[in-house]
Amino acid sequence: MFVTKEFTFDSAHYLPDYHGKCESMHGHTYKMHVTVEGEVQPDGMVLDFVELKKIVKERVISKLDHKLLNEVIATPSAENIAIWSWEQLEKKLPLYEIKVWETPTSFVTYRK
Ligand SMILES: [Zn+2]
Repeated sequence: MFVTKEFTFDSAHYLPDYHGKCESMHGHTYKMHVTVEGEVQPDGMVLDFVELKKIVKERVISKLDHKLLNEVIATPSAENIAIWSWEQLEKKLPLYEIKVWETPTSFVTYRK
């Protein structure tokens, strides 16, 4: 069974090695899906949504929201945001997949 929680955050970034719209500093409203995998427990849940939200907010969203991502993540592409987020969460959650949307129509999917 897979359980997913959706998050959004507003952040600035720039990609110095990229030649295009993301080269200069600007902002995005990012969307993130964090999906965990597990068996349904006797309480009827895989993982309490409240607990999932708390862990992701503490370890990921609070560090990225309204921040300059370059001060947190080297070359903060959607790909590297997904990898960094996985590293913050993997010891705390039975991760299956992280998706990061940089625009409403462009997103990456990371699984390890
Ligand atoms: Zn950008």
